Amino acid sequence: MHADIVSPESLLSDFLETNTLGKAMKIKDFFRKETLVLSFEVFPPMREGSTAGLFTTIDQLVMAEPDFISVTYGAGGSTQEMTFEIASRIKNHVGTEVLTHLTCVNAATEDITGILDHLGRENIKNILALRGDPPKAETSFTKCAGGFGYANELVEFIKARDDFSIGVAGYPEGHVECPDLDKDLDHLKRKVDAGADFIITQLFFDNDDFYRFRDRAVSRGIPVPIVPGIFPIFNFKQIARIASLCGAAIPGPLFDRLSAVQDRSDEVAKYGVDHAVRQSRDLLGNGVPGLHFYSMNRSDHVTRIIRQLNIDRKAFRENEKRIDGGAV
Ligand SMILES: Cc1cc2nc3c(=O)[nH]c(=O)nc-3n(C[C@H](O)[C@H](O)[C@H](O)COP(=O)(O)OP(=O)(O)OC[C@H]3O[C@@H](n4cnc5c(N)ncnc54)[C@H](O)[C@@H]3O)c2cc1C
Repeated sequence: MHADIVSPESLLSDFLETNTLGKAMKIKDFFRKETLVLSFEVFPPMREGSTAGLFTTIDQLVMAEPDFISVTYGAGGSTQEMTFEIASRIKNHVGTEVLTHLTCVNAATEDITGILDHLGRENIKNILALRGDPPKAETSFTKCAGGFGYANELVEFIKARDDFSIGVAGYPEGHVECPDLDKDLDHLKRKVDAGADFIITQLFFDNDDFYRFRDRAVSRGIPVPIVPGIFPIFNFKQIARIASLCGAAIPGPLFDRLSAVQDRSDEVAKYGVDHAVRQSRDLLGNGVPGLHFYSMNRSDHVTRIIRQLNIDRKAFRENEKRIDGGAV
């Protein structure tokens, strides 16, 4: 048979492999394959009933062939319901695997049980288990009656109850409430010991922060994949605010460049994309198992970055194994 002719059998097997409709797939299994795991994050729109625009974005993001899309979970109100609706539609209609974020905020164990049952019925088997940030009016996190105080407790509860694949959050520069990086790592290890299968990191702009964090996590005996979270900058004021809220430093030269063009949105976005491409290339060259992009509900920057990276995801991992003898 001519090499360029694709058989119907192989077309069918490709389709079955990539299409998730009707299949409950676990994200932990993606990391066992020899390919780079690509994922994007979206959030429910603030206004009720306005998911049409989001799904246009999702349709465009899906063209970059992510392994999964994650959907954030708000601190309260109607966006929580929307998280599950959006996740279900991505999973069951768009046909892309989904990771549903879930927090401990104002949730007693009965509420979490109800949510897990609902997700099971919707064929969703992947949860990013978080403690969550305090609701807007509050300055510190308060455990609700009959609920959980830390994400490790939520992981343990989900694990004991059902067969979900569970991700947790990691902080390359430390979590804002825990200045002691070693302690923060102990807390991360608790989440993994409780049953987390993978870690997705907070955004960061200096890869050395990620590498130091990963080295310390590995030497602590954290064996699960650690996926870097990449934020494509496109608005100077917005990123200055977000970075300060999550305790992420913007390196001096990047900050200076962005602030010099802060009123020219196309220039800011160009620098943002260039930086994310450089960051991603370096991370890919240093053995990350996946890349997770904070899309901020926009497809243009993420798809530009993916196009510029032009990675053959399968060849990348095979090549990497030849270089370092298989350590990923
Ligand atoms: C990839 C990613 C996605 C996110 N998505 C969302 C989202 O959808 N919705 C949302 O509201 N927020 C989200 N967040 C933000 C997250 O909820 C906040 O950062 C929150 O403040 C901490 O959540 P956590 O799960 O990391 O908490 P935890 O792991 O519980 O840690 C919280 C703090 O307590 C400390 N700690 C942990 N365990 C213990 C313990 N047993 N004893 C004492 N101290 C402890 C930690 O060091 C840390 O300072 C996300 C963050 C990331 C990185």
